[in-house]
Amino acid sequence: MKALNPQERALVERRRRVLGTLGPLFYDRPIHVVRGEGAHLFDAQGDDFLDCYNNVACVGHANAKVREAVNGQLGLQDTHSRYLQDEVLDYAERLLWHFPALLNRVSFTNSGSESNDLALRMARVYTGHQGVVVTSNAYHGITSLVSSVSPSFGTGVPLAPFLATVEVSDLLTGGLPEAEIRATLLSRFQHAFRQLHAAGYGVSAVLLDQIFSSDGVLPGAPGWVDDIAEAVHKVGGILIADEVQSGFARTGDEFWGFERHHAAVDVVTMGKPMGNGIPTGAVVYKEAVGDAFAESTRYFNTFGGNPVSMRAAGAVLDQIEDMHLQSHAKGMGDFISTELESLLAGRSRFGGIRHAGLFIGIDISDGRDSSGCHGGDPQAARSIINRLRDERVLISAAGAEGSTLKLRPPLVFTQQDAERLLESCELLCSEGYFG
Ligand code: PMP
Repeated sequence: MKALNPQERALVERRRRVLGTLGPLFYDRPIHVVRGEGAHLFDAQGDDFLDCYNNVACVGHANAKVREAVNGQLGLQDTHSRYLQDEVLDYAERLLWHFPALLNRVSFTNSGSESNDLALRMARVYTGHQGVVVTSNAYHGITSLVSSVSPSFGTGVPLAPFLATVEVSDLLTGGLPEAEIRATLLSRFQHAFRQLHAAGYGVSAVLLDQIFSSDGVLPGAPGWVDDIAEAVHKVGGILIADEVQSGFARTGDEFWGFERHHAAVDVVTMGKPMGNGIPTGAVVYKEAVGDAFAESTRYFNTFGGNPVSMRAAGAVLDQIEDMHLQSHAKGMGDFISTELESLLAGRSRFGGIRHAGLFIGIDISDGRDSSGCHGGDPQAARSIINRLRDERVLISAAGAEGSTLKLRPPLVFTQQDAERLLESCELLCSEGYFG
């Protein structure tokens, strides 16, 4: 690993002085980003980094159409949401067009965390229950309510007493027959429901990231999430689909992750890619869920649905449509996965690859057991991530241990970008990083 140059070292120290130690940086050798374009980020020396990780800039870094939309609106007005404004209505109608008819109302927020917070509060009022079920390494955000149902924070954040967790990664990474996987998942969720009933909380919601990113990128065979929808409805709760990572055409075949599973969801939350970097989030829900909430409380969000964010979000939808980014995500994701699988096949540290569209997870195994059994190797995953960073290719990790490489590039990732990624992985193979 090359050392930081004096300018970079000074920035790291300056950042630590004012921002403290709360927000960790990516990579052993952090990157000083000054500019972006498409799937590329450029540092202060003009070095070109291939961004294979950033789902926020889904229609590309510094997208010209998003910039035009934002600039145009800033020149008109950008006041808060308690006036009649066309921008929020134009966008709300367009967004709802992407949902089944029953999901017909939307409220706007500024982040994925706020969206999940609002969704959980709605679920409690609507169902009259308190309990929440998530997966065992779920991440849903940073508010006190949402962090208390996000086990991926580790032991530092106390989990809510009304939370039950379900392990899914062992089943969704394994090779069991699909019917057995579905039946086992269903019985695990039903067990969690019984636990919450026995503790007196009941079940207000099952909250599921629709690609199970922090559990290790687990697209799974389509369908099983709908089994859970049916089961949670039977016990008087609702299903909330967290589309913060999986939404907006990312998974290729469908616009939303829950559609891959044909899941009868009641509430959908979103954020990250929605404004291509302009902060904005949303909660889409059934009218009855929203009405019950509105009867009991007031909800006002100063910046949620502001005209600048709405124009940015509208430009994102334009770009996804105009550049056919959903079918591109599918084709490009299939191509990269197939190529990586054949490149890595047979290597001792390769534990398997999964993907849906441009969301790819690669397990890095400890490669110790010749019988085929293996565990994850987070240290080896970190070495690969940092070595790729030195090649100016940016990825990161997921999973409870951090042993799954996670690739989730801007949707505008080109064939040339893919070739560069594959060449860098080939180089790492020749250096023995994959065993
Ligand atoms: N849900 C999921 C699945 C996420 O990945 C994240 C962010 N990583 C959030 C919610 C929270 O979003 P935000 O950081 O915008 O608050």
